[in-house]
Amino acid sequence: KAKTDPLHRIQQYEHALGEAVRQRRELAQDLRRALETGQLKMHYQPQIDLKTGDVCGYEALVRWPHPVRGLVSPAEFIPLAEANGLIGRLGDWVLETTCEEVARWPGSPKVAINLSAIQLNDPHLVGKVLQALVSTGLSPTQLEIELTETALIHDLRQSLSVLRRIKALGVSMALDDFGTGYSALETLRQFPFDKIKLDKGFTDGLSDGGRSRAVISAVVTLARNLDIPVLAEGVETADQLELLNMVGCEQAQGYLIGRPAPAENGAPPAVQDVMWRPAEPAATHYGS
Ligand code: C2E
Ligand code: MG
Ligand code: MG
Ligand code: MG
Repeated sequence: KAKTDPLHRIQQYEHALGEAVRQRRELAQDLRRALETGQLKMHYQPQIDLKTGDVCGYEALVRWPHPVRGLVSPAEFIPLAEANGLIGRLGDWVLETTCEEVARWPGSPKVAINLSAIQLNDPHLVGKVLQALVSTGLSPTQLEIELTETALIHDLRQSLSVLRRIKALGVSMALDDFGTGYSALETLRQFPFDKIKLDKGFTDGLSDGGRSRAVISAVVTLARNLDIPVLAEGVETADQLELLNMVGCEQAQGYLIGRPAPAENGAPPAVQDVMWRPAEPAATHYGS
């Protein structure tokens, strides 16, 4: 009967809550140590151009192989870093390490780096980007910065100023997770982005039928009028890739093309065997 006692249940709940808080605090401590001892690693995920099938760039994604817990997801430790004053150092490390690694790769490929909302408030951010480029020799045209809508809305004027100054360096800007915020159109109207990254949710919806296709197709048209490409995130099947190409999407990224993986021997990770080739004008099917 203790189980149904409300007081007992509240105590149980409070205990669980306290435990969760304690675990979070411990993980934050571990993350602090991870930054100090160099546990973090960069992985890179290829992006392809649907017109040619060629790799057109890579997204840099941070990884934390925790000594006890194994691989912790950035979806968990990025918010933790933001809440514990660690995102500045983490972001600086990501910027420097990525530029350093990619500058050594042959063929001067493009790389996209994700920035957190808090990094946008760093008065030294633009200087740090410039410094990373200068010290590694990475060309500004090789670098793209990914921002989400929510990273921008905290202080619109400040965000716009930072974005313009980064672009003035010759670095391009991509709007990440497009379509998941509150005012995607307003964001596009106010900020001079060079690329739209359509959220995985839209890619997932493709197979459900006409509605998702109509929405993506409208985004593609909008992007064409802005003279910028659309990249579809989270592509997992060949059917999705074919449909995306049909609605005029220019670029794609996802497990089908390649999973995020570390650079090896000064070269980017290889793409998966399943590669997209655009259909010949006469052919009705590809890859068959
Ligand atoms: P994001 O920037 O939207 O990155 C895309 C996420 O989707 C990555 O998750 C990637 O591994 C995953 N993904 C790619 N293709 C597929 C697919 O086909 N299927 C599925 N299910 N997932 C796919 P990841 O690496 O776990 O990162 C999650 C989020 O954490 C990122 O979302 C980004 O917001 C943040 N993040 C990652 N690295 C960094 C970083 O270096 N700095 C900052 N500030 N944030 C980062
Ligand atoms: Mg991203
Ligand atoms: Mg994204
Ligand atoms: Mg995301």
